Amino acid sequence: MSSPKQLIEGFQRFRERSFADDDAQFHDLVQFGQTPSMLVVGCCDSRVDPALILDCAPGDLFVIRNVANLVPPAENQGHYHGTSAALEFGVRNLAVQHIIVLGHAQCGGIHALLEGGVAKDDSFIAEWMRIADAAREHTEQELAGASSEVRHRACEQQAILVSLNNLMTFSWIRERVEQGRLALHGWYFDIERGELLGYNATTRQFETL
Ligand SMILES: [Zn+2]
Repeated sequence: MSSPKQLIEGFQRFRERSFADDDAQFHDLVQFGQTPSMLVVGCCDSRVDPALILDCAPGDLFVIRNVANLVPPAENQGHYHGTSAALEFGVRNLAVQHIIVLGHAQCGGIHALLEGGVAKDDSFIAEWMRIADAAREHTEQELAGASSEVRHRACEQQAILVSLNNLMTFSWIRERVEQGRLALHGWYFDIERGELLGYNATTRQFETL
């Protein structure tokens, strides 16, 4: 797919499927609004669209996508916090019951973090990826002599745990988790093997779901 014209043609097909009559998919979504119970934090990578890989329909998922599916810690300085604002809306307004941080193999953001492939001075990415610095440090300490594939995979998974920890720095998330009204999940989409893994807090491993 290489042209916006193809997207417009795609929209026509989507429209015929989704808006054709009163039973169509969007009829209830428009009439009653969105009530997703799950929020996914995914990566911008074009290969890992959460709704596509999890086979979801419109209205099923509240999705936040950013570089390397990172959740920043809660902070109140005068910056623009797109991810935090979306989290707030999903949790406080929509009252989602699950938050899934969905990482993936071959993540370009994690690659830049580990290999230092981003110029520091004029890059938004370098600053953004500092959120996952603890994951990089952990990987470099634990897997110094390992292959790049092993290190990248470990850092991609470790960054998911950093984001899960950061989620708990938002008071309105922590309270809901402690009250049992909200559950947090760390998932990893292995695009090389076609597998979905989930973090098991008991074994401290990512395991096939
Ligand atoms: Zn990515």
